[in-house]
Amino acid sequence: MTDPSDLAARVRDGDLRLHELEAHADHETAAAARRELLEAETDADLSTVGDYAFDAETADPNIENMVGGAQVPMGVVGPVPVNTSESRPAGDRTAEQSGHDGAADGEYYLPLATSEGALVASVNRGCSAIRASGGATARVLKSAMTRAPVFSVPGVAEAGDVAAWVRENTDTLAEAAEATTSHGELRDVTPYVVGDSVFLRFAYDTKDAMGMNMATIATEAACEVVEAETPASLVALSGNLCTDKKPAAINAIEGRGRTVAADVLVPHEQVEDRLKTTAAAIAEANTRKNLVGSLKAGSLGANAQAANVVAAAFLALGQDIAQVVEGSNAITTVEEREEGLYASVTLASLEVGTVGGGTKLPTQAEALDVVGVRGGGDPPGANADALAEIIAVGALAGELSLLGALASSNLASAHEELGR
Ligand code: NAP
Repeated sequence: MTDPSDLAARVRDGDLRLHELEAHADHETAAAARRELLEAETDADLSTVGDYAFDAETADPNIENMVGGAQVPMGVVGPVPVNTSESRPAGDRTAEQSGHDGAADGEYYLPLATSEGALVASVNRGCSAIRASGGATARVLKSAMTRAPVFSVPGVAEAGDVAAWVRENTDTLAEAAEATTSHGELRDVTPYVVGDSVFLRFAYDTKDAMGMNMATIATEAACEVVEAETPASLVALSGNLCTDKKPAAINAIEGRGRTVAADVLVPHEQVEDRLKTTAAAIAEANTRKNLVGSLKAGSLGANAQAANVVAAAFLALGQDIAQVVEGSNAITTVEEREEGLYASVTLASLEVGTVGGGTKLPTQAEALDVVGVRGGGDPPGANADALAEIIAVGALAGELSLLGALASSNLASAHEELGR
């Protein structure tokens, strides 16, 4: 077996480069050699970074130049009923009347990984309010992972021709795109023109995959057809109108990944008992903070802390963390009704998957098992839909709890007690 020190020495001598170590040793040894080099160069002690519990080789598709594991504490919230028969319908709606059931159906625990003290307690308090209200209702409203390549054309006349060709030949593009995947389905291609640039926003149903690799590979195949049949010349496979990992109004308006909404009706006595305030006070806090404040700030979303729940769930469950940017595109509505407090959260662009990406990493796979949605669903897409609905209910719980804390003015004391 290769000694990590020998491997490190070969890097120091210029015989090997840092990213070449796995070709000369097993993955654990390669990571140990990198830690040795890094410790020598930086004076850092990497003993905890090196004390990881997963098999380094299984992480190979997910990381390069591996040195160890970043360990973040994981907590859990719940159980919270989602779409159960006891879930209190909003107003008079029932599953039958609304036309379809949700993908989630049962009581769920949601693992959350974070370093923010008080976050898990806050979300759990919201979950307990939802549970005491009979549960929440959640629905995936749209599923469309997008990739938008940019093409150059000589001028606007050709741009118009390309856009028209694409509108008339979506089936041809779908045939090319879908030949690259056994799961993905091209749903739509929307052309956008800016002078001599043409953007084509391809939208796919990616089933249980978050779908960014799948959509990119499929779009590349479709682009070859566009280039063969029109005057368009591909400049970049991603033209930023997708829009991946950047704040963008197009995602907030059109959606990306799953567009998902959750709501609950909390009876007045539960608002007082669990949230220590009144429906009127929470509704006022939501209007002035989440709606008026966000409008004044020019925010894309209008929510209290949706990104907190999305980020912690993404970290725990093997999702792509940078897509928290899109996951924060959420609007929270609250109103006082005769029966209690109605609250909803709608996440326009929640990008989640239960296959692929980081979902196979051991701790993340275990956490997906806690939710009960690891792997492909039956039918395909059902697991990722359920995950989106459960995260949306977690976000709803976070909204209820934080708005309740603000309305009852105990936010600072909760942080002081739990987070310091
Ligand atoms: P992936 O791990 O690349 O692919 C998942 C594959 O699983 C699918 O393509 C599909 O194969 C297969 N699969 C098996 N059962 C499935 C089911 N029930 N539903 C759907 N697919 C199923 O994952 P991805 O979701 O496409 O991409 C996620 C990764 O992309 C993450 O690691 C993320 O960090 C990364 N990413 C890439 C880009 C980029 O531009 N390429 C951008 C951002 C993030 P078939 O297609 O053969 O059916």
